Amino acid sequence: MSSNSKPRILTGDTPTGRLHLGHFVGSVENRLALQDSYECFFIIANKHAFTTRAEKPDDIRQSVIDIATDYLACGIDPNKSSMFIQSEVPAIDELTFFFAMLLPFNRVMKNPTLKDEIRDKGLGDNHSFGFPMYAVGQTADILAFRPQLVPVGEDQLPHLEMTREVARKFDQVYCGVDPQTEDRDYVKAGGLFPVIEPKLGRVKRLVGLGAPGADGNLLKMSKSLNNAIFLSDDADVVQKKVMGMYTDPKRIRVTDPGETAPEKNPLWAFHETFNPDKAWVEETRAAYAGGKIGDVAVKRKLIEVLNAVIDPIRTRRKHFEQRPDDVIDALRIGTRKANEVAEETLALAKKAMKQDYFPRKLSM
Ligand code: ATP
Ligand code: MG
Repeated sequence: MSSNSKPRILTGDTPTGRLHLGHFVGSVENRLALQDSYECFFIIANKHAFTTRAEKPDDIRQSVIDIATDYLACGIDPNKSSMFIQSEVPAIDELTFFFAMLLPFNRVMKNPTLKDEIRDKGLGDNHSFGFPMYAVGQTADILAFRPQLVPVGEDQLPHLEMTREVARKFDQVYCGVDPQTEDRDYVKAGGLFPVIEPKLGRVKRLVGLGAPGADGNLLKMSKSLNNAIFLSDDADVVQKKVMGMYTDPKRIRVTDPGETAPEKNPLWAFHETFNPDKAWVEETRAAYAGGKIGDVAVKRKLIEVLNAVIDPIRTRRKHFEQRPDDVIDALRIGTRKANEVAEETLALAKKAMKQDYFPRKLSM
């Protein structure tokens, strides 16, 4: 049994690049705020990276290290939180296969995030069989830890809904939980898996630097879409990216503050998210809408604002870049802890499914 009595958090990232500002406001800020009050597990989902870059194992390996380094640079403390490598936790795969039987095929294929990714990442009809499998696997990434809370950005909500469906189904079929049970009472009613709750960040979906996509909306900032400012970008890279950022020629700003989803002008989405001087933002935005101030002045200010956010992260990152053994150690310790919990969950799941033939022990 895990000795820690705190409620658990599970969340994580795909190693398809480094962490960017979208991760920071969408998920990392919450992780930092909650790492004292929850037992936290942060998965680096390297198998999921193979869904789109199976031919680039070197890149994936480098990204695993990069993401772990980013975690430490952001202030995730390996003495409090466990960061771990997905492929080193075999119980997740074993649960994936069982969970795949609880999800109708068409249900998975209708997952709107999968559809968006197929469109936005240009995967077309040529995506692998494994691509939709990752969404099923993600239900196991999460439930292997039986967490209460899953801090994520908005794009993950369809995956979390599928995770909730798997938890309910498993608990009903194998643990005898009454389907009328309230979601929050599934474990109390004898279920193994909690019907997990998503926790959205301060910004649910930070937009990227580029022009709107095929559907007319700005794309989300994403490692794979070449539209991100990374937490490891140097000051001159930040400057270049901001100066080259798309701005709406008609200067339209559509949404209310704090709601960046259908925002047509990333410049203001970024100021609203990161500029602490709210009065400046409001005044300057009005002047900008009236044509009294141009893109360049607003971009210059934004460069200052973003560097103030990124500077301390950048400094800590340099520290860890020079200590690669510390990064590996954090991953090793975290992965060991992750295996303890995931093995325990798998054993309980097999018992509930009456497939507990021989006990086993995993060592690392
Ligand atoms: P990829 O392009 O490979 O899909 P990504 O940039 O979407 O990468 P993920 O690793 O898929 O990053 O997502 C990790 C976490 O960060 C998820 O919880 C996701 O919701 C959140 N996240 C990613 N991008 C954003 C964003 N632009 N705004 C808010 N949250 C985000
Ligand atoms: Mg993604």
